[in-house]
Amino acid sequence: MELVEKINRLKKEKNAVILAHNYQIPEVQDIADYVGDSLGLSIQASKTTADVIVFCGVYFMAETAKILSPEKIVLIPDEKAGCPMADMITAEELRKLKAEHPKAKALCYVNTTAEVKAECDVCCTSGNAEKIVRDVFREDDEIIFVPDQYLAHYIATRTGHDFILWKGFCPTHVKILPEDITAKRALYKNAEVLVHPECPAGVTSLADKVLSTEGMCRYIKESKATEFIIGTEIGILHRLKKENPGKLFHPVSERATCPNMKLTTLEKVLWSMEEMGFEVTVPPDIMNKAGTCLRRMIDYKP
Ligand code: SF4
Repeated sequence: MELVEKINRLKKEKNAVILAHNYQIPEVQDIADYVGDSLGLSIQASKTTADVIVFCGVYFMAETAKILSPEKIVLIPDEKAGCPMADMITAEELRKLKAEHPKAKALCYVNTTAEVKAECDVCCTSGNAEKIVRDVFREDDEIIFVPDQYLAHYIATRTGHDFILWKGFCPTHVKILPEDITAKRALYKNAEVLVHPECPAGVTSLADKVLSTEGMCRYIKESKATEFIIGTEIGILHRLKKENPGKLFHPVSERATCPNMKLTTLEKVLWSMEEMGFEVTVPPDIMNKAGTCLRRMIDYKP
C-alpha cells in the first residue's frame, strides 16, 4: 500500500501518466492510468497532456510512445524489458530484403525497433493489420511484412494477399500448442476459444475467434457467452476477470508467460519515478521517419 501511495504522490508531483500493457503483472495494471494493447497505448501516448509517461511494457512500446510524444519525458522502469520478436530483424537486414524486392512496400508490425520502423512505409498492430492491408495497399502490391511470420500468415488468409515474410515469431505465443486447445475444450465444453494472431496457424485454425488483446476485451464485454478459453499471454486474464466479474476464464496454456513483460514491478515503477530513469531517447532522423510510419497506423484505428 505504501508503495502505491508513493507512486500516486509522485504521479501528481511530476504530472506523470502510467501506461501499462495488458500483459503486465496485476499490481502494475492496477496502478496504471490506462491499460491496453500496443495500439491503444500508442494512441494514449500521442494525446496525453502529462509531462512524463511511465511506460510499463517492453522497450519498443516505450520507444513508440517517445516517437509519438517527442516533447515528453518517457521512462521505462526496467531498461532490460525487451521484446525478442522485435529483435529478430535489424534495419540492416530489412534494407537487404528491400533491395532484393525493389518494388515492394514495407509493412512492419509495431513489435519492431524504431530503426526498423524508419525503413517502413506503414506500421500495424494485431488489432488493425487486416484493415491496413485492405485500405492502404492495392491488390497487386508486393508487400514485405516483418517480423512476425504467424501474424503475416493469418492476415494473408483473411485478405488473400501474399506477403514477403520474415521468419520472426513470439517465443511466448509459440508455446501455445494445438493439443492445449483440444485438452481445454474437452475440460470446458461450453467455453469459447479466443486466440491471438501471433499464435501459429495450427492454433489459430482451431479457435472460435482470432483477436488482438484489445479485440478480446471488447468481444468478451459484448458477448452473451460466459466462459472463455484464452490463447494469449496470461497477464490479460487479470483485466478480463476485473472487467467481467460474472464470467469465467481459463488460459489455453499457463506456459504462455512473457518473462520480459514480467520484469516490471511496483518497486521499479517507484524507483523510475523517483530517479527519472530509464529515459527513452530516439535519434532525430530515426524519430522523423519512424514517426511518419507510426502516424499512418494511428489513422487506421479499426
Ligand atoms: S509476448 Fe511476445 S511479442 Fe509480446 S513482448 Fe513478449 S516476446 Fe514480445
